[in-house]
Formats: sequence, C-alpha cells, structure tokens
Amino acid sequence: MFARAAIPAGTHILDYKGRLITHARADRVYGDGAESGHTFLFALNRRYIVDATVGGNAARWINHSCTPNCQAVIVHHADGNPRRDRIVIEALRDIAPGEELTYNYGIVLDVRHTTRLKKLWACHCGSPACTGTLLQPKY
Ligand SMILES: [Zn+2]
Repeated sequence: MFARAAIPAGTHILDYKGRLITHARADRVYGDGAESGHTFLFALNRRYIVDATVGGNAARWINHSCTPNCQAVIVHHADGNPRRDRIVIEALRDIAPGEELTYNYGIVLDVRHTTRLKKLWACHCGSPACTGTLLQPKY
C-alpha cells in the first residue's frame, strides 16, 4: 500500500479492521499461526484477535518492513471492554507521496524458531537493516 499524499509524522492513517475472534478460535480455524506464515490475523489483546480475512480493510495490505515508516498501536478503550480496543496504524515519520507504507509486524512465536519456521517467516523487505525474518526476539 502506497501513500498518495504526504503524510506527516504522527498521523493516524487508518485502523486495522476485521472480525474479532478469540485466540482459541483462531487456533482452531487457522492452526497455531506458526503453520501458515501468512494470515490476516493481528493480536488485539489477551482475549481477542482481529481477523481481517472477514471485514478487513486496506490495512491488511500493508507490508512488513524491518525499517518501517508506520507503527501499529493498540489503543485500549477507556471502559476496559476488550472488544472495543483498536489497532491504529500511525506514521512514524513524515512520509512522501509514492512511498510504500510499512510497519513491523512484531511476530513473536512461543515455539522454537526452527529452520522451517524461519523459512516460512523470511523477510524480503529490502531494507539495508533487514534482519531476514519477521520473527522478533522472544522476551
Ligand atoms: Zn526485512
């Protein structure tokens, strides 16, 4: 997805939208996530995942980059209802027209990073600082 106009740093570009499903349901429907490598799932909070396969918007087409110009921020709703939390895509810096929008997917898998998983989640973002993988270090 590419910027059609200049976007100043800090701009709220759009929300990552889709149906809300529980983590357990996502595992049933899509496997444990470690299997496919490519889904439109975004962990919203401890209870829910946003599944952009259904009811998703353009945010699902934003690619990962190791040196992104956007970030995905979870905005917790003031009333504490986990269904009302949002995922907001924000510009990290000024973005020029024609630039591709990217953010770091921040994929953290609980399982061991096997050769197969590393291949599945290989990064080809083209950044000089590319780590070669979408998988982030475990905390
Ligand atoms: Zn990369």
